[in-house]
Amino acid sequence: MHYDCLIVGSGHGGAQAATSLRQHGFQGTIGVLSEDRDAPYERPPLSKDYLLGGKTFDRILIRPADFWASRNIDLLLGNKVIKVDASNMQVLCANGATVSYGHLVWAAGGRPRRISCPGHDLQGIHAVRTRSDVDRLVEDLARAERVVVVGGGYIGLEAAAALTKLGKTVTIVEALNRVLARVAAEPLSRFYEREHRDHGVEIRLETSVESFIGSDGRLTGVMLQDGAILPADIAIVGIGIVPCVEPLIAAGAAGNDGVDVDEFCRTSLPHVFAIGDCARVRSAHGLRIESVQNAHDQATAFAKTLCGELTPYRATPWFWSNQYDLRLQTVGLSAGFDGTLVRGDPNTRSFSIVYLREGAVIALDCINCVRDYVEGRLLVERGARIGAHILADSSIRLKSLVA
Ligand SMILES: Cc1cc2nc3c(=O)[nH]c(=O)nc-3n(C[C@H](O)[C@H](O)[C@H](O)COP(=O)(O)OP(=O)(O)OC[C@H]3O[C@@H](n4cnc5c(N)ncnc54)[C@H](O)[C@@H]3O)c2cc1C
Repeated sequence: MHYDCLIVGSGHGGAQAATSLRQHGFQGTIGVLSEDRDAPYERPPLSKDYLLGGKTFDRILIRPADFWASRNIDLLLGNKVIKVDASNMQVLCANGATVSYGHLVWAAGGRPRRISCPGHDLQGIHAVRTRSDVDRLVEDLARAERVVVVGGGYIGLEAAAALTKLGKTVTIVEALNRVLARVAAEPLSRFYEREHRDHGVEIRLETSVESFIGSDGRLTGVMLQDGAILPADIAIVGIGIVPCVEPLIAAGAAGNDGVDVDEFCRTSLPHVFAIGDCARVRSAHGLRIESVQNAHDQATAFAKTLCGELTPYRATPWFWSNQYDLRLQTVGLSAGFDGTLVRGDPNTRSFSIVYLREGAVIALDCINCVRDYVEGRLLVERGARIGAHILADSSIRLKSLVA
């Protein structure tokens, strides 16, 4: 088997790479080879509407079922690449098949980080990464009352909000001293902690899982490092992902916690690109970003470049999270901030947090505040320097500060 462009991974990045190639006039053969058995689908609803039953699988498909064939894109599903042979430009699959390529796009995302403590393999312990993860979880939820969510990041918090809506008793266990500690400033963490507690969620900070306890192979509780035992019918582990890059790294690609790419998404291997959650753009911000926007925009930049329109990846990052009736929208990257200010009153449940570095605006987190999100984007893109008292005054529209 040979494809002029072989894409590994059928998530947001892989699906968009194939689509963009056709949109930009790529005439060669395209194959999307993926471990996932389902046609490309959106992941964000997995911890939101799909988990709640508000959306069926059909409604989270990235494209209608007949789209791929109509664009001459072959979906090769349910197969995993286990080896990349960069000198012979081919990959080896777990089923023994070999597929050669003209260009290879690695869009393999990440797999959930696991906890390797005693009891980690008991039934009732779930991850939330794929459609089948959530289908299994939903099935299990029917007989569950008490749920422990391990990890106070966005996925853990979204799952906690959804399960609370479903009437479950939820406890969040977070190792650090606040939720969202790795991605947001303290005011946002404290706001979400209050919200979750107001909805009946218990939050245990600065402790982690010592072991999972079970009976007859099934989870019955979670023992914490401080000795406390939380009775649990189900545990959801949301402690981040491990980028799926082993075959590429073994083939000689530069990388560490992801694969390194330049601003054109090129890895250090010839004719091999990487995009999405598994790619670290050294030249742009030196970070591996896990968001739909990042996967989508890298895929588009890659496709344009391959079609002859050299396009560096320089998009402004954005992200969202839905919990209860709260919509968080983030623009920019807050990593490395040295100051924050709050616009508006968190008690109104509509406010924004502005992140600053050396006096310049680098990011905004906007809660139920679309106006700040839309108008603040330009401030982020320009690295605007504006007096803190002006920025913090929510009666002053951000768009009036752009000039
Ligand atoms: C529950 C959940 C909620 C989220 N919510 C949001 C949100 O609200 N907003 C937001 O911006 N982002 C959100 N994200 C993150 C977002 O979904 C990811 O950033 C995005 O899916 C990354 O796309 P990707 O193509 O890089 O990787 P993925 O979508 O993970 O796709 C990777 C694909 O590669 C396949 N694969 C892996 N290894 C191999 C291999 N060796 N061989 C073949 N195939 C392989 C996988 O099966 C998969 O199909 C959420 C993620 C999850 C899990």
